[in-house]
Amino acid sequence: MAMYVYKDSRRTIEFLAEDALKQDMVIRYYCPNPNCNAHMYLCGVDGLSTAHFSANRQAFPHIEKCDYGTSNGFKPDNSDENSFDFEMALENMLNPTKATKKDKLPNTHKTGESNLKPLRTIRQIYDMCIAHSCTQTYNNKVIGKMLLDDRSEYMYPKGVFGYRIIKSKPKTGGFYNTNEKEIHLVAPSSEKYEFF
Ligand SMILES: [Zn+2]
Repeated sequence: MAMYVYKDSRRTIEFLAEDALKQDMVIRYYCPNPNCNAHMYLCGVDGLSTAHFSANRQAFPHIEKCDYGTSNGFKPDNSDENSFDFEMALENMLNPTKATKKDKLPNTHKTGESNLKPLRTIRQIYDMCIAHSCTQTYNNKVIGKMLLDDRSEYMYPKGVFGYRIIKSKPKTGGFYNTNEKEIHLVAPSSEKYEFF
């Protein structure tokens, strides 16, 4: 599923789930993946679930391994957006013992509140970021400020500072520096930044 789509095949006019209305349900939209010809339709504007887009016509599914197909596990109603804290989630990943203690804190006994948990793994957060446009927000945090990829590159004119999930690849011809015992990664596709 996706939280945004494009209105045109050239992918110039972005359309966000939060701006969608019931009458938009009959319109075919374009998958954010330019290589994928899936026919995307608006779902969930009935109030039962969060509005999102899905390739729900069997004849026009996502291509294999499309970021917006079944390989993306993000479902807006399966996690607690309001208690998501990006910095804390990443800190907990870096300090697993601390995170374990935190997980044991009871947070389900408040009456009337759901048992949903916030996203906490890299995969969960990555899938959530991919499902959104980089200008959308998740619990008031801009997606592009959590994930550096080709879409959000323009948000990083001077460098990458603070916690970020980075869609990177091994540096060609220099992935591992045996002297320094370092791996070298580059991101995004433009290879503007190198990390080691
Ligand atoms: Zn697709």
